[in-house]
Amino acid sequence: DYCKGGYHPVQVGEEYNNGKYTVVRKLGWGHFSTVWLSRDNDTGKHVALKVVRSAAHYTETALDEIKLLNKVVQANIDHPGRKHVVSLLDSFNHKGPHGMHVCMVFEVLGENLLGLIKRWNHRGIPMPLVKQITKQVLLGLDYLHRECGIIHTDLKPENVLIEIGDVEQIVKTYVQEDPNKAKDEHRNGRRRRRTLITGSQPLPSPLNASFSQTDLSSLNKLMAEQGKPVPITGPSPSPSQDVEMSGAAGATSPTKSMKESLGISDEAAQKEREKTASPEVILGAKWGASTDVWSMACMSGTKYGKDDDHIAQVIELLGTFPKSLCVGGKWSQEIFNRKGELRNIHRLRHWALPDVLREKYHFSIEESKRIAEFLLPMLELLPADRANAGGMAGHGFLDGTKGMDGVKLEIEPGTKGEGIDGWATEIKKQR
Ligand code: ADP
Repeated sequence: DYCKGGYHPVQVGEEYNNGKYTVVRKLGWGHFSTVWLSRDNDTGKHVALKVVRSAAHYTETALDEIKLLNKVVQANIDHPGRKHVVSLLDSFNHKGPHGMHVCMVFEVLGENLLGLIKRWNHRGIPMPLVKQITKQVLLGLDYLHRECGIIHTDLKPENVLIEIGDVEQIVKTYVQEDPNKAKDEHRNGRRRRRTLITGSQPLPSPLNASFSQTDLSSLNKLMAEQGKPVPITGPSPSPSQDVEMSGAAGATSPTKSMKESLGISDEAAQKEREKTASPEVILGAKWGASTDVWSMACMSGTKYGKDDDHIAQVIELLGTFPKSLCVGGKWSQEIFNRKGELRNIHRLRHWALPDVLREKYHFSIEESKRIAEFLLPMLELLPADRANAGGMAGHGFLDGTKGMDGVKLEIEPGTKGEGIDGWATEIKKQR
């Protein structure tokens, strides 16, 4: 992949943007780019420098992404969700032996939420931490939906990055106290230590009390660019259908990342995404910003399999689907018959969310009720009826969240798409 149109061969110590940045070491890589810890020589701070592959379609996608990221930086600096969405600090072009590369500069972030889930061996992150992450993601989403006109469309644990100083704090406060974790490490005969981003040079301290940030690197939808938003003309295909139909080109669906739009389809990544896909996306019905709120509620970790199973589990948990979803989606007929019953799966066992929380996850009756009351408005089956993120950030369940005292939006919990364009039906900009 280090060839014409491919990755740029970045060297440690190399300078970028006329000497503004010096590369310190590699942070990671993805389909699009390699990412490098670099020093900003003007400020002395460290940044994450993303060097995008040079082929034309990567460049175009990156330029689109920069437009969205600039919108995120500028839309409304006073919104409390602003600081929970990653900031683009700079962007420029860099000429190399394999062509011209778009470069983007971000603040340095730490581990993603999936890593945090693994630290607790998939047994559940402590509730105070869950509340902190939940509140910050909801605030960030409200900012994207209400102020930026952006739907994230690929919200999942991997895309929620924890601010680096906070990762260190979390490890100190929680991980070493977790007896199960210690036991497991003992059983495995080694202490697993994750390398945080360290180095001989000082790293930026945590900017503030915030720590989760929504990574926009794979965001691929823009509702309202400038002026009047253009309504979408028809429903989009569901993600798994795209794969099964051998990558049908054309319309993108919410959970299809830019990478897949480029024909790069990764089965494992697809499976990850399916866990947080909303019914309207699976069924190929109309969707809008409210699909992000569904994904947010699903990050509690429920595992889903194929579309049929996924829908069956949703029915077991949340009850029968409204007729409009059973018949209205592009793929509804593959899953439901004309009577609105599942075609391939019978004998469902209704197991309501509060009961699941109590019986399977061993929460008390009272706590199960409180958690369910918080989650269910975000799991409304009809996109139009789903609660908006900003309102839910102010829900009583999140009262007293650590580090978030007094952070409040003037939005009533349980309100829906009021004031958010494209809440239930995406509005697409014309390219
Ligand atoms: P791509 O768009 O090419 O798939 P990603 O945005 O997924 O690239 O980044 C690739 C990897 O680089 C990530 O998995 C992560 O390890 C690292 N990374 C990206 N952005 C940052 C950042 N702001 N701070 C720290 N590490 C980062």
